[in-house]
Amino acid sequence: MKPSSEHDAAVYTTRIAALHGLLRAAGAGGAILAPTDQMRYLSGWSEHGHERLIALFVPASGEPTFLVPKMNAPQALTNPAGIQDVRGWEDETGWAGLATEVIAGWASSETILVDDEMQAGHLLQLQEALPAVRWRSVGPSLAVLRERKSHGELDLMRRSAEITDEVYSATIKELEPGLSENEVQHIISLEYRVRDTLPSFSLVCFGPNTALPHHSSGDRRLADGDVVILDIGCHWHGYASDITRTVAFRRADPNAAEVYRVVHRAHTAVMEFAKPGVTCESVDASARSVIESAGYGENFVHRTGHGIGLSTHEPPYIVKGNPQKLEEGMCFSDEPGIYLPGRFGVRIENIVTVTGSGVASLNAAPPTELEVVG
Ligand code: ZN
Ligand code: ZN
Repeated sequence: MKPSSEHDAAVYTTRIAALHGLLRAAGAGGAILAPTDQMRYLSGWSEHGHERLIALFVPASGEPTFLVPKMNAPQALTNPAGIQDVRGWEDETGWAGLATEVIAGWASSETILVDDEMQAGHLLQLQEALPAVRWRSVGPSLAVLRERKSHGELDLMRRSAEITDEVYSATIKELEPGLSENEVQHIISLEYRVRDTLPSFSLVCFGPNTALPHHSSGDRRLADGDVVILDIGCHWHGYASDITRTVAFRRADPNAAEVYRVVHRAHTAVMEFAKPGVTCESVDASARSVIESAGYGENFVHRTGHGIGLSTHEPPYIVKGNPQKLEEGMCFSDEPGIYLPGRFGVRIENIVTVTGSGVASLNAAPPTELEVVG
């Protein structure tokens, strides 16, 4: 599949222009992005972050500047946004002087917004070099831009979701008694590789381990009657996917089948309730009320979902206390779960996108009953 218009310079020019407007509205002189999905969203380029500063300086008006270690300058110059002002700094002189110089060229620098994921050490150096500046998070401004996906972004999200659905279906067919959680993780990696990508993460839980929402896969071996949870995702041309399926291996515990029905009802309640204009907290409540009225309220120990795009977890968060309203083009996970410590857990997760009148799933529908596999 063609990487699509997401790689055209015009896409980034529009995003940077939109950020200019938000910076001025926030009364900020500019923003400094670390090598994160924020940098990737604005420039199409990023690198693995480390102790050497890599940053994108975006003034409230005018051209952005990359500040990178001199040895990274050739890579930074390949940025799909076509940003030409790439300044390389050298180990023996450091970057603080150059950063001060870039910011001195801005119309104002009373307030500067910074990437939430910038290394604390880098922000501390900036604060030391520019003690009069008020530093604020750029997160809320960029969330306004990133939350609503364009058609081009949605195409990539759909393909990412489709690949993950395929990997799930292929993996479930390969389950055999005695396989360890780690071995199933390996199978998942191979299934992603043959589809030209890699897992961004994969959680494999067998038996009582399914009762831990963030269990780290280990050497537990699959046995008949185990509840199995697979929670997997990848990135496709930068865009994330994330699904969870719960199945029973060879025979289903009737209690697990019953809990599965409750979770499925909660998952479906979100699909039926969510639409433009409803708040994130009310979407969370739509799932939670189903689980609470079935008597499992205390066993639903996490939020109902998270936004997803370039990052696997990003705003909007579908959580109690978030009054933000859904808007067309937003994408989020619908992932209620019930966890019975020492016994088993059930979670069902699909990614949905907000349409003009409701939500549509990017993933295949989950089975309505606890599926028995193997
Ligand atoms: Zn997940
Ligand atoms: Zn998720």
